[in-house]
Amino acid sequence: MWEVEVLARRLRVRWSPPISDAQRLGIEPDRGWDTVTRTDGYPRLLYWSAADPPQRFIRNDVPPGDRALVIHALLHGWRVVQMAGFARCRICDTALGSSDKAVHGMVYPEKAEHYLLEHDVWTPGCDELLRRLQTRSRT
Ligand SMILES: [Zn+2]
Repeated sequence: MWEVEVLARRLRVRWSPPISDAQRLGIEPDRGWDTVTRTDGYPRLLYWSAADPPQRFIRNDVPPGDRALVIHALLHGWRVVQMAGFARCRICDTALGSSDKAVHGMVYPEKAEHYLLEHDVWTPGCDELLRRLQTRSRT
């Protein structure tokens, strides 16, 4: 949990932008993660835009074990930014969360696991989070 504590602290104070995880990993910005934006240089996953709605990312070929790993991680993130009001599922209109959370150096909307659980959504950001989880478990 140490890494996300640092992230949470950093998100609340002014600081010079770090080299983002994407840059460190050599990932080209135009490949994107899921959508366009990041939180203070941290890669984001499971945020949507008009050009990238969750319906674009429905995938039935993801191994259930991989899906379960990512869902578990999303359920155990740290709250980093609290908003007013609730987000709603872009597919079924269920009320979701009202904060941003972080896990393994990535930021995502609270209750984003709903998309993975209920709608078989899987984005490039999910692949990246899975890679981070697998890397960590080997060390
Ligand atoms: Zn839904």
